[in-house]
Amino acid sequence: MKYMHMNLVNTYAQLGATFSSNVVPQPLEQPRLVHRNQSLAEQLGYASFSDEDFVQFCNGKNLPKNSQSIAMVYAGHQFGSWVPRLGDGRAILVGEATKSDDTLYDLQIKGAGLTPYSRNGDGRAVLRSTIREYLCSEALHNLGIPTTRSLCMIDSETLVYREKTETGAAMIRVAESHVRFGTFEYFSYTKQYDALQALVDYVIQRHFPEWKNEENRVELLFTEAVKRTAELIAQWQSVGWCHGVMNTDNMSILGLTIDYGPFGFLDGFDAQHICNHSDWQGRYAFSRQPDIGYWNCTALAQALLPILPGGQESAQAILKTYPKFFAEKYSILLRAKFGFATADESDSTLIDQIFQQMQEEKTDYTIFFRSLCDDSVENLFVDREKFRRWYRIYQRRLNQEGRAEQDIRAGMLASNPKYILRNHLLQIAIDKAEVGEYSEIETLFTIMQKPFDEQPDYESYAELPPGWAGELEISCSS
Ligand code: AMP
Ligand code: MG
Repeated sequence: MKYMHMNLVNTYAQLGATFSSNVVPQPLEQPRLVHRNQSLAEQLGYASFSDEDFVQFCNGKNLPKNSQSIAMVYAGHQFGSWVPRLGDGRAILVGEATKSDDTLYDLQIKGAGLTPYSRNGDGRAVLRSTIREYLCSEALHNLGIPTTRSLCMIDSETLVYREKTETGAAMIRVAESHVRFGTFEYFSYTKQYDALQALVDYVIQRHFPEWKNEENRVELLFTEAVKRTAELIAQWQSVGWCHGVMNTDNMSILGLTIDYGPFGFLDGFDAQHICNHSDWQGRYAFSRQPDIGYWNCTALAQALLPILPGGQESAQAILKTYPKFFAEKYSILLRAKFGFATADESDSTLIDQIFQQMQEEKTDYTIFFRSLCDDSVENLFVDREKFRRWYRIYQRRLNQEGRAEQDIRAGMLASNPKYILRNHLLQIAIDKAEVGEYSEIETLFTIMQKPFDEQPDYESYAELPPGWAGELEISCSS
Protein backbone atom coordinates (compact mmCIF):
# COMPACT_ATOMS: atom_id res chain seq x y z
CA MET A 1 0.00 0.00 0.00
CA LYS A 2 2.09 2.87 -1.31
CA TYR A 3 -0.34 5.55 -0.19
CA MET A 4 0.31 4.68 3.46
CA HIS A 5 3.77 6.21 3.08
CA MET A 6 2.77 9.45 1.40
CA ASN A 7 4.39 12.55 2.78
CA LEU A 8 1.75 14.63 4.54
CA VAL A 9 1.99 17.60 6.87
CA ASN A 10 -0.87 18.97 8.95
CA THR A 11 -0.35 22.69 9.24
CA TYR A 12 -4.04 23.56 9.55
CA ALA A 13 -4.58 20.94 12.26
CA GLN A 14 -1.68 22.53 14.15
CA LEU A 15 -3.63 25.75 14.49
CA GLY A 16 -5.50 23.92 17.23
CA ALA A 17 -8.98 22.95 18.34
CA THR A 18 -10.43 26.45 17.79
CA PHE A 19 -10.03 25.97 14.05
CA SER A 20 -11.03 22.37 13.47
CA SER A 21 -12.15 19.13 15.09
CA ASN A 22 -10.42 15.80 14.89
CA VAL A 23 -12.59 13.31 13.04
CA VAL A 24 -12.27 9.76 11.83
CA PRO A 25 -13.60 9.10 8.32
CA GLN A 26 -16.38 6.51 8.14
CA PRO A 27 -15.61 4.24 5.20
CA LEU A 28 -18.22 3.39 2.60
CA GLU A 29 -19.22 -0.23 1.99
CA GLN A 30 -17.73 -2.09 -0.97
CA PRO A 31 -16.01 0.90 -2.54
CA ARG A 32 -15.21 0.81 -6.26
CA LEU A 33 -12.89 3.14 -8.15
CA VAL A 34 -14.84 5.32 -10.54
CA HIS A 35 -11.94 7.42 -11.77
CA ARG A 36 -8.38 8.43 -11.02
CA ASN A 37 -6.89 11.64 -12.35
CA GLN A 38 -3.54 10.41 -13.51
CA SER A 39 -2.08 13.75 -14.54
CA LEU A 40 -2.85 15.33 -11.17
CA ALA A 41 -1.55 12.17 -9.47
CA GLU A 42 1.68 12.64 -11.40
CA GLN A 43 1.99 16.25 -10.32
CA LEU A 44 1.57 15.22 -6.72
CA GLY A 45 3.98 12.29 -7.00
CA TYR A 46 1.27 9.60 -6.74
CA ALA A 47 1.50 8.30 -10.30
CA SER A 48 2.62 4.82 -9.23
CA PHE A 49 -0.22 4.28 -6.76
CA SER A 50 -2.34 1.27 -7.61
CA ASP A 51 -6.08 1.60 -8.17
CA GLU A 52 -6.51 -0.14 -4.83
CA ASP A 53 -4.38 2.55 -3.18
CA PHE A 54 -6.72 5.21 -4.52
CA VAL A 55 -9.80 3.28 -3.39
CA GLN A 56 -8.46 2.83 0.14
CA PHE A 57 -7.26 6.39 0.41
CA CYS A 58 -10.45 7.89 -0.98
CA ASN A 59 -12.42 5.70 1.40
CA GLY A 60 -10.49 7.08 4.36
CA LYS A 61 -9.63 3.62 5.57
CA ASN A 62 -6.16 3.16 7.06
CA LEU A 63 -5.05 6.72 6.47
CA PRO A 64 -1.36 7.40 5.94
CA LYS A 65 0.66 7.34 9.17
CA ASN A 66 1.34 11.05 9.22
CA SER A 67 -2.23 12.09 8.52
CA GLN A 68 -4.23 14.01 11.10
CA SER A 69 -7.80 14.05 9.86
CA ILE A 70 -9.89 17.10 10.71
CA ALA A 71 -13.08 18.97 9.80
CA MET A 72 -12.68 22.76 9.52
CA VAL A 73 -15.10 25.09 11.28
CA TYR A 74 -16.60 28.09 9.48
CA ALA A 75 -19.79 30.15 9.29
CA GLY A 76 -21.36 32.05 6.43
CA HIS A 77 -24.09 34.04 4.81
CA GLN A 78 -26.40 31.62 3.01
CA PHE A 79 -28.75 33.32 0.53
CA GLY A 80 -28.06 36.55 2.41
CA SER A 81 -28.89 35.20 5.87
CA TRP A 82 -26.32 34.81 8.60
CA VAL A 83 -25.62 31.24 9.74
CA PRO A 84 -23.34 31.36 12.82
CA ARG A 85 -21.86 27.91 12.52
CA LEU A 86 -21.36 25.70 9.49
CA GLY A 87 -18.09 23.85 8.95
CA ASP A 88 -17.12 20.75 6.99
CA GLY A 89 -20.20 18.62 7.44
CA ARG A 90 -19.05 15.85 5.14
CA ALA A 91 -15.54 16.76 4.10
CA ILE A 92 -12.45 15.67 5.98
CA LEU A 93 -9.04 17.21 5.51
CA VAL A 94 -6.50 14.42 5.83
CA GLY A 95 -3.41 16.59 5.51
CA GLU A 96 -1.38 18.66 3.11
CA ALA A 97 0.74 17.13 0.39
CA THR A 98 4.10 18.61 -0.48
CA LYS A 99 5.07 18.95 -4.09
CA SER A 100 8.50 19.71 -5.50
CA ASP A 101 7.66 23.43 -5.77
CA ASP A 102 7.19 23.70 -1.99
CA THR A 103 3.51 24.51 -2.35
CA LEU A 104 1.29 22.60 0.07
CA TYR A 105 -1.88 21.05 -1.30
CA ASP A 106 -4.82 20.19 0.96
CA LEU A 107 -6.09 16.67 0.42
CA GLN A 108 -9.70 16.48 1.47
CA ILE A 109 -12.09 13.55 1.28
CA LYS A 110 -15.59 14.76 0.42
CA GLY A 111 -18.37 12.38 1.49
CA ALA A 112 -16.40 10.76 4.30
CA GLY A 113 -19.12 10.64 6.97
CA LEU A 114 -20.32 12.61 9.98
CA THR A 115 -18.39 15.42 11.61
CA PRO A 116 -19.30 17.78 14.47
CA TYR A 117 -20.56 20.16 11.74
CA SER A 118 -22.92 17.78 9.96
CA ARG A 119 -26.02 19.44 11.50
CA ASN A 120 -28.98 17.49 10.06
CA GLY A 121 -26.94 15.95 7.27
CA ASP A 122 -25.62 12.41 7.02
CA GLY A 123 -22.03 13.27 6.11
CA ARG A 124 -22.41 11.64 2.74
CA ALA A 125 -22.22 12.75 -0.89
CA VAL A 126 -24.26 10.94 -3.52
CA LEU A 127 -22.83 9.56 -6.73
CA ARG A 128 -24.47 12.11 -9.06
CA SER A 129 -23.23 15.20 -7.20
CA THR A 130 -19.76 13.70 -6.80
CA ILE A 131 -19.53 13.03 -10.54
CA ARG A 132 -20.62 16.62 -11.21
CA GLU A 133 -18.00 18.16 -8.93
CA TYR A 134 -15.30 15.72 -9.99
CA LEU A 135 -15.68 16.45 -13.69
CA CYS A 136 -16.54 20.13 -13.57
CA SER A 137 -13.66 21.17 -11.38
CA GLU A 138 -11.30 19.58 -13.88
CA ALA A 139 -13.24 21.14 -16.78
CA LEU A 140 -12.86 24.63 -15.28
CA HIS A 141 -9.20 23.98 -14.53
CA ASN A 142 -8.60 23.15 -18.17
CA LEU A 143 -10.43 26.31 -19.21
CA GLY A 144 -7.81 28.17 -17.18
CA ILE A 145 -10.16 29.08 -14.33
CA PRO A 146 -8.85 28.87 -10.75
CA THR A 147 -10.52 26.00 -8.92
CA THR A 148 -10.18 23.15 -6.50
CA ARG A 149 -9.22 19.92 -8.30
CA SER A 150 -10.19 16.27 -8.27
CA LEU A 151 -7.73 13.44 -7.62
CA CYS A 152 -9.93 10.34 -7.56
CA MET A 153 -13.44 9.18 -6.85
CA ILE A 154 -15.20 6.06 -5.62
CA ASP A 155 -18.74 4.70 -5.65
CA SER A 156 -20.09 2.25 -3.07
CA GLU A 157 -22.94 0.06 -1.90
CA THR A 158 -23.75 2.33 1.05
CA LEU A 159 -27.30 3.59 0.71
CA VAL A 160 -27.91 7.31 1.06
CA TYR A 161 -31.36 8.88 1.24
CA ARG A 162 -32.20 12.06 -0.66
CA GLU A 163 -35.41 12.59 -2.70
CA LYS A 164 -34.84 8.93 -3.57
CA THR A 165 -32.48 6.21 -2.39
CA GLU A 166 -29.03 6.62 -3.89
CA THR A 167 -25.52 5.32 -3.29
CA GLY A 168 -22.81 7.10 -1.36
CA ALA A 169 -19.70 8.20 -3.21
CA ALA A 170 -16.56 10.07 -2.22
CA MET A 171 -13.82 12.03 -3.92
CA ILE A 172 -10.49 13.49 -2.97
CA ARG A 173 -10.47 17.22 -3.50
CA VAL A 174 -7.12 18.94 -3.91
CA ALA A 175 -6.66 22.66 -3.30
CA GLU A 176 -4.03 25.11 -2.20
CA SER A 177 -6.52 26.15 0.45
CA HIS A 178 -9.97 25.32 1.74
CA VAL A 179 -10.18 28.53 3.78
CA ARG A 180 -13.38 30.38 2.96
CA PHE A 181 -14.73 33.90 3.53
CA GLY A 182 -16.94 32.15 6.07
CA THR A 183 -13.91 30.94 8.03
CA PHE A 184 -13.01 34.57 8.80
CA GLU A 185 -16.65 35.38 9.49
CA TYR A 186 -16.83 32.59 12.09
CA PHE A 187 -13.96 33.98 14.19
CA SER A 188 -15.08 37.56 13.79
CA TYR A 189 -18.70 37.09 14.83
CA THR A 190 -17.71 34.92 17.80
CA LYS A 191 -15.35 37.78 18.75
CA GLN A 192 -12.31 35.50 18.72
CA TYR A 193 -10.08 38.23 17.34
CA ASP A 194 -6.80 36.53 18.22
CA ALA A 195 -7.92 33.51 16.25
CA LEU A 196 -9.03 35.80 13.42
CA GLN A 197 -5.56 37.35 13.31
CA ALA A 198 -4.00 33.89 13.55
CA LEU A 199 -6.05 32.77 10.55
CA VAL A 200 -4.93 35.79 8.52
CA ASP A 201 -1.33 35.07 9.51
CA TYR A 202 -1.70 31.40 8.62
CA VAL A 203 -3.00 32.23 5.15
CA ILE A 204 -0.24 34.80 4.64
CA GLN A 205 2.49 32.49 5.90
CA ARG A 206 1.33 29.71 3.61
CA HIS A 207 0.39 31.62 0.46
CA PHE A 208 1.95 35.08 0.64
CA PRO A 209 5.01 34.71 2.90
CA GLU A 210 6.52 37.89 1.46
CA TRP A 211 3.92 39.88 3.43
CA LYS A 212 4.37 38.22 6.78
CA ASN A 213 6.15 41.13 8.47
CA GLU A 214 4.08 43.89 6.90
CA GLU A 215 2.08 45.97 9.32
CA ASN A 216 -0.74 46.31 6.80
CA ARG A 217 -0.82 42.60 5.95
CA VAL A 218 -4.54 42.27 6.69
CA GLU A 219 -5.18 44.98 4.11
CA LEU A 220 -2.85 43.26 1.65
CA LEU A 221 -4.67 39.96 2.04
CA PHE A 222 -8.09 41.58 1.75
CA THR A 223 -7.02 43.49 -1.37
CA GLU A 224 -5.77 40.26 -2.93
CA ALA A 225 -9.00 38.41 -2.07
CA VAL A 226 -11.09 41.20 -3.61
CA LYS A 227 -8.99 41.17 -6.76
CA ARG A 228 -9.03 37.41 -7.13
CA THR A 229 -12.76 37.20 -6.51
CA ALA A 230 -13.50 39.88 -9.11
CA GLU A 231 -11.23 38.20 -11.65
CA LEU A 232 -12.60 34.74 -10.94
CA ILE A 233 -16.16 35.88 -11.55
CA ALA A 234 -15.08 37.68 -14.74
CA GLN A 235 -13.78 34.32 -15.90
CA TRP A 236 -17.01 32.53 -15.01
CA GLN A 237 -19.01 35.14 -16.93
CA SER A 238 -16.77 34.87 -19.97
CA VAL A 239 -17.38 31.13 -20.36
CA GLY A 240 -21.05 31.40 -19.35
CA TRP A 241 -20.71 29.47 -16.10
CA CYS A 242 -23.09 29.82 -13.23
CA HIS A 243 -22.03 28.68 -9.73
CA GLY A 244 -25.50 28.50 -8.26
CA VAL A 245 -24.75 28.80 -4.52
CA MET A 246 -22.48 31.79 -3.98
CA ASN A 247 -22.88 31.82 -0.21
CA THR A 248 -19.91 33.27 1.66
CA ASP A 249 -19.02 29.80 2.95
CA ASN A 250 -18.53 28.81 -0.68
CA MET A 251 -16.11 31.65 -1.46
CA SER A 252 -12.42 30.83 -1.34
CA ILE A 253 -9.95 33.28 0.18
CA LEU A 254 -7.62 32.44 -2.72
CA GLY A 255 -10.30 33.10 -5.34
CA LEU A 256 -10.72 29.46 -6.32
CA THR A 257 -13.98 28.05 -7.58
CA ILE A 258 -15.11 25.83 -4.70
CA ASP A 259 -18.10 23.70 -3.63
CA TYR A 260 -19.68 22.66 -6.87
CA GLY A 261 -23.40 22.14 -6.45
CA PRO A 262 -26.21 22.92 -8.90
CA PHE A 263 -23.81 24.79 -11.23
CA GLY A 264 -24.38 25.02 -14.96
CA PHE A 265 -22.94 26.34 -18.19
CA LEU A 266 -25.36 28.46 -20.20
CA ASP A 267 -26.82 26.70 -23.21
CA GLY A 268 -29.03 29.28 -24.94
CA PHE A 269 -27.93 32.74 -23.78
CA ASP A 270 -30.07 34.03 -20.95
CA ALA A 271 -28.56 36.63 -18.66
CA GLN A 272 -31.26 35.91 -16.07
CA HIS A 273 -30.57 32.17 -16.05
CA ILE A 274 -30.94 30.54 -12.61
CA CYS A 275 -29.12 27.23 -12.49
CA ASN A 276 -30.13 26.33 -8.94
CA HIS A 277 -33.68 25.02 -8.92
CA SER A 278 -33.95 25.90 -5.20
CA ASP A 279 -32.98 29.58 -5.76
CA TRP A 280 -36.55 30.89 -5.96
CA GLN A 281 -35.64 34.54 -6.11
CA GLY A 282 -32.74 34.24 -8.48
CA ARG A 283 -30.26 35.67 -6.00
CA TYR A 284 -27.52 33.74 -7.79
CA ALA A 285 -28.77 34.20 -11.36
CA PHE A 286 -26.04 34.35 -14.01
CA SER A 287 -26.04 38.13 -14.49
CA ARG A 288 -26.06 38.74 -10.72
CA GLN A 289 -22.83 36.86 -10.04
CA PRO A 290 -20.54 39.90 -10.34
CA ASP A 291 -22.68 41.89 -7.86
CA ILE A 292 -22.92 38.95 -5.49
CA GLY A 293 -19.14 38.64 -5.59
CA TYR A 294 -19.02 42.25 -4.41
CA TRP A 295 -21.62 41.58 -1.71
CA ASN A 296 -19.53 38.67 -0.49
CA CYS A 297 -16.39 40.83 -0.39
CA THR A 298 -18.36 43.30 1.73
CA ALA A 299 -19.17 40.47 4.13
CA LEU A 300 -15.47 39.59 4.25
CA ALA A 301 -14.62 43.25 4.93
CA GLN A 302 -17.09 43.29 7.80
CA ALA A 303 -15.46 40.18 9.26
CA LEU A 304 -11.93 41.58 8.98
CA LEU A 305 -12.82 45.01 10.35
CA PRO A 306 -11.89 44.29 14.00
CA ILE A 307 -8.29 43.59 12.98
CA LEU A 308 -7.98 45.99 10.06
CA PRO A 309 -5.56 48.74 11.10
CA GLY A 310 -7.06 51.23 8.64
CA GLY A 311 -10.63 50.53 9.80
CA GLN A 312 -13.78 51.36 7.81
CA GLU A 313 -12.06 53.84 5.56
CA SER A 314 -9.50 51.36 4.41
CA ALA A 315 -12.12 48.61 3.97
CA GLN A 316 -14.21 50.92 1.78
CA ALA A 317 -11.23 51.96 -0.30
CA ILE A 318 -10.30 48.34 -0.96
CA LEU A 319 -13.87 47.34 -1.75
CA LYS A 320 -13.98 50.12 -4.33
CA THR A 321 -11.34 48.28 -6.34
CA TYR A 322 -13.70 45.37 -7.01
CA PRO A 323 -15.66 46.90 -9.93
CA LYS A 324 -12.42 48.06 -11.51
CA PHE A 325 -10.75 44.64 -11.24
CA PHE A 326 -13.89 42.96 -12.55
CA ALA A 327 -14.35 45.31 -15.50
CA GLU A 328 -10.69 45.15 -16.50
CA LYS A 329 -10.56 41.37 -16.51
CA TYR A 330 -13.96 40.93 -18.11
CA SER A 331 -13.23 43.34 -20.94
CA ILE A 332 -9.90 41.65 -21.68
CA LEU A 333 -11.63 38.26 -21.81
CA LEU A 334 -14.53 39.49 -23.93
CA ARG A 335 -12.30 41.32 -26.37
CA ALA A 336 -10.32 38.12 -26.87
CA LYS A 337 -13.55 36.23 -27.51
CA PHE A 338 -14.53 38.71 -30.22
CA GLY A 339 -11.02 38.74 -31.66
CA PHE A 340 -10.13 42.33 -30.76
CA ALA A 341 -6.50 42.95 -29.90
CA THR A 342 -7.08 46.52 -28.77
CA ALA A 343 -9.83 48.40 -26.97
CA ASP A 344 -12.16 50.75 -28.79
CA GLU A 345 -14.81 52.89 -27.15
CA SER A 346 -17.46 51.48 -29.49
CA ASP A 347 -16.85 47.93 -28.22
CA SER A 348 -19.31 47.90 -25.36
CA THR A 349 -22.20 49.02 -27.62
CA LEU A 350 -21.24 46.45 -30.23
CA ILE A 351 -21.08 43.69 -27.63
CA ASP A 352 -24.32 44.76 -25.94
CA GLN A 353 -26.11 44.66 -29.28
CA ILE A 354 -25.21 41.07 -30.05
CA PHE A 355 -25.90 39.94 -26.48
CA GLN A 356 -29.34 41.50 -26.84
CA GLN A 357 -30.09 39.54 -29.98
CA MET A 358 -28.71 36.38 -28.37
CA GLN A 359 -30.93 36.98 -25.36
CA GLU A 360 -34.00 37.45 -27.59
CA GLU A 361 -33.27 34.35 -29.63
CA LYS A 362 -31.65 32.26 -26.86
CA THR A 363 -28.66 31.68 -29.11
CA ASP A 364 -26.30 29.05 -27.75
CA TYR A 365 -23.56 30.96 -25.95
CA THR A 366 -20.63 28.62 -26.54
CA ILE A 367 -21.53 27.71 -30.12
CA PHE A 368 -22.00 31.38 -31.00
CA PHE A 369 -18.50 32.32 -29.97
CA ARG A 370 -16.91 29.26 -31.49
CA SER A 371 -18.72 29.96 -34.78
CA LEU A 372 -17.97 33.67 -34.82
CA CYS A 373 -14.79 33.12 -36.81
CA ASP A 374 -16.67 31.05 -39.43
CA ASP A 375 -18.95 32.23 -42.19
CA SER A 376 -21.59 29.87 -40.82
CA VAL A 377 -22.29 31.99 -37.75
CA GLU A 378 -25.32 33.71 -39.26
CA ASN A 379 -27.11 30.36 -39.50
CA LEU A 380 -27.42 30.43 -35.71
CA PHE A 381 -29.81 33.37 -35.87
CA VAL A 382 -33.50 33.58 -36.67
CA ASP A 383 -33.49 37.25 -37.61
CA ARG A 384 -30.60 36.98 -40.07
CA GLU A 385 -31.08 40.47 -41.49
CA LYS A 386 -30.59 41.94 -38.04
CA PHE A 387 -27.57 39.75 -37.43
CA ARG A 388 -26.01 40.73 -40.77
CA ARG A 389 -26.34 44.41 -39.89
CA TRP A 390 -24.45 43.76 -36.69
CA TYR A 391 -21.92 41.54 -38.41
CA ARG A 392 -20.98 44.20 -40.98
CA ILE A 393 -20.14 46.64 -38.20
CA TYR A 394 -18.27 43.90 -36.37
CA GLN A 395 -16.21 43.09 -39.49
CA ARG A 396 -15.36 46.74 -39.92
CA ARG A 397 -14.24 46.88 -36.28
CA LEU A 398 -12.02 43.81 -36.82
CA ASN A 399 -10.52 45.21 -40.03
CA GLN A 400 -9.72 48.46 -38.31
CA GLU A 401 -6.97 46.64 -36.40
CA GLY A 402 -5.33 45.47 -39.64
CA ARG A 403 -4.35 42.06 -38.29
CA ALA A 404 -3.96 38.99 -40.45
CA GLU A 405 -7.10 36.89 -40.65
CA GLN A 406 -5.37 33.73 -39.51
CA ASP A 407 -3.97 35.46 -36.43
CA ILE A 408 -7.40 36.71 -35.47
CA ARG A 409 -8.86 33.26 -35.99
CA ALA A 410 -6.14 31.50 -33.99
CA GLY A 411 -6.64 33.91 -31.10
CA MET A 412 -10.39 33.44 -31.13
CA LEU A 413 -10.14 29.66 -31.22
CA ALA A 414 -7.85 29.79 -28.19
CA SER A 415 -10.33 32.03 -26.33
CA ASN A 416 -13.61 30.32 -27.18
CA PRO A 417 -13.87 26.72 -26.01
CA LYS A 418 -15.46 24.18 -28.29
CA TYR A 419 -16.24 21.73 -25.48
CA ILE A 420 -17.95 22.67 -22.25
CA LEU A 421 -19.40 20.37 -19.62
CA ARG A 422 -23.07 20.94 -20.26
CA ASN A 423 -25.60 19.60 -17.79
CA HIS A 424 -27.09 17.13 -20.24
CA LEU A 425 -23.66 15.59 -20.91
CA LEU A 426 -23.18 15.15 -17.17
CA GLN A 427 -26.66 13.69 -16.87
CA ILE A 428 -25.92 11.01 -19.46
CA ALA A 429 -22.73 10.06 -17.60
CA ILE A 430 -24.62 10.01 -14.30
CA ASP A 431 -27.42 7.81 -15.65
CA LYS A 432 -24.85 5.31 -16.86
CA ALA A 433 -22.83 5.43 -13.65
CA GLU A 434 -25.95 4.77 -11.60
CA VAL A 435 -26.20 1.38 -13.32
CA GLY A 436 -22.50 0.72 -12.76
CA GLU A 437 -21.08 1.86 -16.07
CA TYR A 438 -18.35 4.48 -15.62
CA SER A 439 -16.98 4.71 -19.17
CA GLU A 440 -18.82 7.95 -19.99
CA ILE A 441 -17.07 9.63 -17.06
CA GLU A 442 -13.73 8.75 -18.60
CA THR A 443 -14.94 10.03 -21.97
CA LEU A 444 -16.05 13.40 -20.57
CA PHE A 445 -12.88 13.66 -18.50
CA THR A 446 -10.80 13.10 -21.65
CA ILE A 447 -12.73 15.58 -23.78
CA MET A 448 -12.61 18.28 -21.12
CA GLN A 449 -8.81 18.04 -20.94
CA LYS A 450 -8.64 19.98 -24.21
CA PRO A 451 -11.68 22.21 -24.42
CA PHE A 452 -10.21 24.51 -27.06
CA ASP A 453 -9.02 21.76 -29.44
CA GLU A 454 -10.89 20.20 -32.31
CA GLN A 455 -11.56 16.58 -31.34
CA PRO A 456 -13.10 14.95 -34.42
CA ASP A 457 -13.96 11.73 -32.54
CA TYR A 458 -16.13 13.69 -30.14
CA GLU A 459 -17.85 16.13 -32.50
CA SER A 460 -21.29 15.27 -31.10
CA TYR A 461 -20.26 16.49 -27.63
CA ALA A 462 -19.95 20.02 -29.03
CA GLU A 463 -23.40 20.06 -30.59
CA LEU A 464 -26.50 21.91 -29.47
CA PRO A 465 -28.08 20.29 -26.42
CA PRO A 466 -31.07 18.02 -27.07
CA GLY A 467 -34.59 19.23 -26.28
CA TRP A 468 -34.73 17.44 -22.94
CA ALA A 469 -31.71 19.38 -21.65
CA GLY A 470 -33.97 22.37 -21.03
CA GLU A 471 -36.12 20.30 -18.69
CA LEU A 472 -33.25 19.29 -16.41
CA GLU A 473 -33.70 20.59 -12.88
CA ILE A 474 -30.64 20.64 -10.71
CA SER A 475 -31.45 21.06 -7.04
CA CYS A 476 -29.29 21.80 -4.06
CA SER A 477 -29.62 18.26 -2.70
CA SER A 478 -26.32 16.52 -3.06
P1 AMP B 1 -23.02 23.49 0.52
O1 AMP B 1 -24.04 24.55 0.23
O2 AMP B 1 -23.18 22.22 -0.24
O3 AMP B 1 -21.64 24.03 0.35
O4 AMP B 1 -23.19 23.05 2.04
C1 AMP B 1 -23.52 23.90 3.11
C2 AMP B 1 -23.15 23.27 4.43
O5 AMP B 1 -23.91 22.07 4.64
C3 AMP B 1 -21.70 22.88 4.56
O6 AMP B 1 -21.31 23.19 5.86
C4 AMP B 1 -21.70 21.40 4.30
O7 AMP B 1 -20.65 20.74 4.93
C5 AMP B 1 -23.05 20.99 4.88
N1 AMP B 1 -23.59 19.77 4.25
C6 AMP B 1 -24.09 19.68 2.99
N2 AMP B 1 -24.51 18.42 2.75
C7 AMP B 1 -24.27 17.70 3.86
C8 AMP B 1 -24.46 16.33 4.25
N3 AMP B 1 -25.03 15.45 3.42
N4 AMP B 1 -24.09 15.97 5.48
C9 AMP B 1 -23.55 16.86 6.33
N5 AMP B 1 -23.32 18.14 6.04
C10 AMP B 1 -23.68 18.57 4.81
MG1 MG C 1 -20.22 24.68 0.96
